[in-house]
Amino acid sequence: MEIHLDKKIAGEAWAQDAESIVRKCVHCGFCNATCPTYQLLGHESDGPRGRIYLVTQLLEGQPADETTRAHLDRCLLCRACETTCPSGVAYGRLLETGRHMLDQQLPRTGLDYLKRKIMTTLTPNHLLMQAGVNLARPLRRLLPPEISSQLPIAGKRLTRPEGTRARKMLLLEGCAQSSLTPETNAAAARVLDRFGIQLVREKNPGCCGAVRLHTSERVKGLRDIKQRIDTWWPMLGNDVEAIISTASGCGVTVKDYGDLLEDDPGYASKARHIAGMVMDISEVIGREVAKSPPAPELRQNIKVAFHSPCTLQHGQKITGQVENLLRQFGFKLLPVANAHLCCGSAGTYSILQPDLSGQLKADKLEKLQMHEPDVIATANVGCQLHLRKDSNVPVLHWIELLDTVKG
Ligand code: SF4
Ligand code: SF4
Repeated sequence: MEIHLDKKIAGEAWAQDAESIVRKCVHCGFCNATCPTYQLLGHESDGPRGRIYLVTQLLEGQPADETTRAHLDRCLLCRACETTCPSGVAYGRLLETGRHMLDQQLPRTGLDYLKRKIMTTLTPNHLLMQAGVNLARPLRRLLPPEISSQLPIAGKRLTRPEGTRARKMLLLEGCAQSSLTPETNAAAARVLDRFGIQLVREKNPGCCGAVRLHTSERVKGLRDIKQRIDTWWPMLGNDVEAIISTASGCGVTVKDYGDLLEDDPGYASKARHIAGMVMDISEVIGREVAKSPPAPELRQNIKVAFHSPCTLQHGQKITGQVENLLRQFGFKLLPVANAHLCCGSAGTYSILQPDLSGQLKADKLEKLQMHEPDVIATANVGCQLHLRKDSNVPVLHWIELLDTVKG
């Protein structure tokens, strides 16, 4: 696609990066076929190709207004379009640049501003989040379902193995996950212990940067990332083999640290090193299972519908790995139609775009529940909490299922 950068930004590295992304697009429109918002709304500007035009206009210095913002805001940043695009257009990075430029030109106001401020203050702060959970728990029955369904489920097993193991990996506790679904990392610790791996725990959990980066607070998002690097760096002794993420939304962001901080002389090399060490838990377990596969006669008699988060399949390009592992451990995997489509959670999207998010969730649950699963499994805390509110069956992180397998 042709583009002529506005002279005012032509010297900026970020603008040149955006320009090179735009130039890769050949207008073919293949991406529209897999875009959830284009499918729901049928408007060119609510699909990836149309949004690339809108960001191009911003980069060329053309005027933009609230209509432009509405189309850019409706994007889930699910990156299904990147998976489909034959030209390798890095759409996600371009959209984040576009949103940031627009917020600089036309600052947000009123309720929109307030909602974002609350979210970007509360969610990334583990201590505030935990305090909120502690306050809300005793009032669970009085709270609206939107809130009570997000609170931790009572009775989940939270114990972690205490012994030491020769092999060690650092586990990312996460900001929301450590407060809302603490059972996930406890299950991960128990499963990895069976493979002889000890998890080193983060002392001060915090946000990987995703929340603020995805709400156009780039400067604060990069600050969150540097804080994480400062926390993790002293923990990465010679004996820590890898950094593990059990939330695919966090994993995809940390894998991007090298690119996000490549121009920062104080952090570029640490960021690149950390990005190279991060693995989704499915990658770690997959590697261990390849060395010592489970007994072939294992049968669990549990029917599972797996929802692969966009951050796993489109962001980290991990497809089929979790499903294969669950099959190997004897679970019966059910077919799920349109598995490439987003469930509508998409970080903060369910709060900022409740109507579209609700439509996507209803469609996703219909597909997931079509063959009457016993449970729905997923790989990201955001999807898990979003789906579980309206699901007829429990919605778990898949590592909890592996944790139930004996032997
Ligand atoms: S990121 Fe998702 S919602 Fe946004 S344009 Fe691409 S496919 Fe559509
Ligand atoms: S599929 Fe890729 S090249 Fe084609 S219009 Fe979409 S972004 Fe552009």
